[in-house]
Amino acid sequence: MNKDEYFLFLNEQEKNEKIIGIENYAIKNRVPIIQKPGLDFLTAIIKISKCKKILEIGTAIGYSAINCALINKDIYVTTIERDELMLKEAKKNIELFNLNEKITIIYNDALEVNELELGNDYDLIFIDAAKSQYQKFFEKYAKCLKKGGLIVSDNLIFHDLIFKETIANRNTMQLVNKIKKYNLWLKSNTLFNTKFFNIGDGIALSIKK
Ligand code: SAH
Ligand code: MG
Repeated sequence: MNKDEYFLFLNEQEKNEKIIGIENYAIKNRVPIIQKPGLDFLTAIIKISKCKKILEIGTAIGYSAINCALINKDIYVTTIERDELMLKEAKKNIELFNLNEKITIIYNDALEVNELELGNDYDLIFIDAAKSQYQKFFEKYAKCLKKGGLIVSDNLIFHDLIFKETIANRNTMQLVNKIKKYNLWLKSNTLFNTKFFNIGDGIALSIKK
C-alpha cells in the first residue's frame, strides 16, 4: 500500500449505492470527476466554513455538486455546464437524489453567463471547467463572492503533467503552460489569500480579502 492508498483506506466510508453508480459511470465514460482526496478536502472546507451558497463552474455529471448539496440541508448549489450530454446526465443524477430544489444548473458556456445576474453573496466558488480558462473564470466570478468568501480551484498539477519537461502533444503542452501561468498568477493575486495543496490533482484555496 502506498501513501495515497493508505489515506484512501483511512478515509473510506460506507458507500452510498447511488454515489457508486455515478463514480462507475464516470470511470466507464472517462468523465473527469473530482478525485476522492480532493472531494474530502472540498467538503471539509464547506463544513468548517459553514458555506450555504456554492457556485460551481463545470458540472459534468453532477458528482461534485451532489456531494456538496448532500452535506446538509442549508446548502444550495448553482452549477454551470456547457455540454449537452453532460447536462442530461447531471439532471438525471440530481433527480435520482431528489436534489432539484438544491441544485440549479445553468446550461451555458461559463464565459457567456452574465455573472452579475447571479448576485454577489456566494460563500464558495468551485472552479473545475476548462483548465485553459481558469484565470478568466476566476476574475469573472470573483464578483459573485462575499468578502471572506472562498474560491477552490481543482486540477492544478493536471495529472502530474506540469512536472514533465517536454510534452509531445502541442495542445496539451499549451494547456499545461496555461495551468502553470494560472498557478503563478494566483500566487501573486493580492486580492486573495491563496494556499496550494498537494491533494488529489492539486487544489488551491483562495480567500477573498
Ligand atoms: N465538477 C465536476 C467535474 C467537472 S469536469 C465533478 O467534479 O464532478 C469539467 C466540466 O466542465 C466538463 O463537463 C465540461 O463540459 C465543462 N466545461 C468546460 N469548459 C466549460 C465552460 N467554459 N463553460 C461551462 N462548462 C464548461
Ligand atoms: Mg476537476
